[in-house]
Amino acid sequence: MMPTETLPDAELRDIRKEFPGGVVAVDGVDLTVGRGEFFSLLGPSGCGKTTLLRILAGLERPSAGTVLIRGVAMERVPPHRRPTNLVFQRLALFPHLTVAKNIAFGPSLRRGGRRDVAAKVTEMLKLVDLAGYGDRYPDQLSGGQQQRVAIARALANEPALLLLDEPLSSLDLNLRIQMQAALKRIQQDSGTTFVYVTHDQGEAFAMSDRIAVMNAGRVEQVGPPRELYRSPRTRFTATFLGDTNLFEGPDVGETLESGGITVTLPTPGRIASVRPEHVAIAEELRDGYDNRFTGVVGDVVFQGSVVRYTIQLDAGPRISSELSADAAFHPTPGQRVEAGWQSHVTAVLDA
Ligand code: ATP
Repeated sequence: MMPTETLPDAELRDIRKEFPGGVVAVDGVDLTVGRGEFFSLLGPSGCGKTTLLRILAGLERPSAGTVLIRGVAMERVPPHRRPTNLVFQRLALFPHLTVAKNIAFGPSLRRGGRRDVAAKVTEMLKLVDLAGYGDRYPDQLSGGQQQRVAIARALANEPALLLLDEPLSSLDLNLRIQMQAALKRIQQDSGTTFVYVTHDQGEAFAMSDRIAVMNAGRVEQVGPPRELYRSPRTRFTATFLGDTNLFEGPDVGETLESGGITVTLPTPGRIASVRPEHVAIAEELRDGYDNRFTGVVGDVVFQGSVVRYTIQLDAGPRISSELSADAAFHPTPGQRVEAGWQSHVTAVLDA
């Protein structure tokens, strides 16, 4: 047997979950989460991410498949005996207990001596950047502070896996972004493995070491954020992780015929994805674009740091381009332009 410190924190093997009534929420999922990873389950509503998290926590029993935590099969291990802790979107702090007492509430802490508990509470408050807040009550804290207390309380139990189900979704946008940075730091400083459920790709990108993109109960692709964004393998992953221009058509070697244009590819394929930020536009493009087409500017949408253009190509399809708001060239609706990209930026998809 492998020494336990080299075993992955979580392994899901061919997990399936069918609810009474026939809903198949999880359909053959294999995943491995390594020690100290920030691992996200990302996908649209109803794709099965919460069910998978609940299966890890032991709150849901899989219809088939095996869950191992640090190499130990969890089939007969009830939720309260698993080395996991769950943090929800809705806070579950005790309103009548101080922050310190909330953190000290964890079962493993209640077994410790009083001095150990005080030391652990101090360490946890420092970890979540709330040193000195131990005597406050939850209603004397902001939403983000309350959420950090909830995380401190969960981490005080020293779980192998901290399971987080959309914990930031009730916070407003600015606070959410601050909390993303805080959560990532807390995860790194504590060295605890996080499994994080979200439908928000920006949130998953901001924090994760790796992401599993889920669709209809299955895992579409697993990888680090950059790799998923740059090299999606399926239409679903390409479109769920940001806007893209998709071209589909018969495979004719290293070109593809799609909607009236011939797209040059880096490798042969039938489906290609080109991100809008890779589509250059100009009155006349300089040399070096092996994909270049003439067209007319349609919509122009200012988005702050970038401007998004729709271009109706003369040969047929409509494509999107995104330029920095600081770019020198800013065409207006109706203006004739040339749009193009270099074939090496194209992701050739499998499905
Ligand atoms: P969301 O982001 O909306 O929470 P999700 O990806 O987490 O979505 P799940 O909550 O895992 O999705 O649900 C997956 C599917 O299983 C959905 O179709 C859901 O309706 C169904 N489902 C979840 N729990 C049950 C249950 N207890 N009984 C029957 N069907 C269920």
